Amino acid sequence: MSEKYDLIVIGAGPGGYVAAIRGAQKGLKVAVVEADRVGGTCLNRGCIPTKAMIHASSLYREMQEGDRFGVSAERVSYDYGKICTYKQETVDTLVGGVQQLLKGNQVTVINGRGMLLPPADGGNAVRVGDDVYYADNVILAAGSKPATLPVEGIDLPHVVNSDGLFELDHAPKRLVIIGGGVIGVEFATVFANLGCTVTILEALPKILDNFDKEISQNLKMVLKKRGVDIHTSAMVRRFAENGDGTVTAFYEEKEKEQTVSGDYILVATGRRPVTEALFAEGAQPEMNGRYVKVDGDFRTSIPGVYAIGDLIGGIQLAHAASAHGIRAVEAICGSAGSQNIAIVPAGVYTDPEIAIVGMTETQAKDQGIDVITGKFIMSANGKSLITKEERGFIKVVAEAGSEKILGAQMMCARATDMIGEFTTAIVNDLTISDMLKSIMSHPTYSEGIGEALEDAHGMSLHTAPRKR
Ligand code: NAD
Repeated sequence: MSEKYDLIVIGAGPGGYVAAIRGAQKGLKVAVVEADRVGGTCLNRGCIPTKAMIHASSLYREMQEGDRFGVSAERVSYDYGKICTYKQETVDTLVGGVQQLLKGNQVTVINGRGMLLPPADGGNAVRVGDDVYYADNVILAAGSKPATLPVEGIDLPHVVNSDGLFELDHAPKRLVIIGGGVIGVEFATVFANLGCTVTILEALPKILDNFDKEISQNLKMVLKKRGVDIHTSAMVRRFAENGDGTVTAFYEEKEKEQTVSGDYILVATGRRPVTEALFAEGAQPEMNGRYVKVDGDFRTSIPGVYAIGDLIGGIQLAHAASAHGIRAVEAICGSAGSQNIAIVPAGVYTDPEIAIVGMTETQAKDQGIDVITGKFIMSANGKSLITKEERGFIKVVAEAGSEKILGAQMMCARATDMIGEFTTAIVNDLTISDMLKSIMSHPTYSEGIGEALEDAHGMSLHTAPRKR
């Protein structure tokens, strides 16, 4: 029998590698099985490369707009190849960092595809190629991959998913994006910044459909201003090649068939869990549709086997997967959970950024909760005026009476960094007055948080007085 571990993690994405490191920190003998490079989708094909592309493309746009600050630059241009190199170097640095951390924590990295076997005498078992490894505990963290659309033409060479788009060595002149979800709007931001003609086709009545209505409407206006053509309630039916290197999407809008062509079509219509070849016969835990069913500590129906991250459905975010991994390891070690995994902040890296946590006003009301709200429009925030990023708002939702913070929605510069203040407030049951005890330094975007909180008391200093 090969070496036995306390914990084998299948998948070294942000869920799996974090679980492996935390397990090792807690004294477990840990192995992680990974078929590709460590870091998973987030580092290699998701969060990190996209944000690098967003950064480079925003810099290009900002340089062209430098005149607004009295700074002019002539012949501003970009080299797409160099942008890709910068993106790849950033990814490689972070992947190298994770490799070092795994090594430093004495986590064994087993290269290959792991398959859960039925429990054997040696405990739980995982096959990798011809080898079988045993462990008391297994965490399944195999992640997700882009969902495909069941439509004609989906396999055409110029119809790509986000993985395929990253492989292009040039920016498409005309890009058609199917899906106005998070991936769709982030890629629209990148390529609109680079001067490409971008069209979004979204089947639902609004882009970012699961976000606050005000955020969706505002983002639609911002993207339209940057030249992005957005069609909502537009259901894509098929794709066809035109013979000149371009492709056409056929979609239904207002009960009529419409078409739009581009050099490439990006299909960004969600992600599916990677469960193929993950379970040997007799080793599949109870499922919830296509997702692995787990309890509050991420235990599956098989004793000693846990599942985390995109495999279990729900919120598909890197930091949620990491939190699941930490909680699963805490359960394995018999310790209490250290994080509130029910409150997950989310960020969208558009310009302005969008960030949300907890409940919206509508969601709270739908649950019968009486709320008070405060809102601050960032056009009255000094820092936002300095950087000319004054478009946007910060909104806070609190329970009426107790004034406990329930949620916040932000659409403004640095929203994805600032949302953490509200996350801390919600998980610690802080009230509006608790948060207002902190003095905000000046001039900062964070002053907008204080103003939104004060507005809930009708006392925002930099908002015109409410009619009494
Ligand atoms: P999504 O589910 O957010 O959006 C997909 C969109 O495609 C939906 O709005 C859906 O209505 C639309 N759609 C589906 N079929 C269609 C059709 N036939 N025609 C037109 N539109 C259609 O999925 P995504 O944007 O692919 O993102 C996948 C996951 O990755 C999400 O869970 C997301 O949260 C996560 N992600 C997060 C970030 C971030 O946190 N910044 C960034 C990228 C991705």
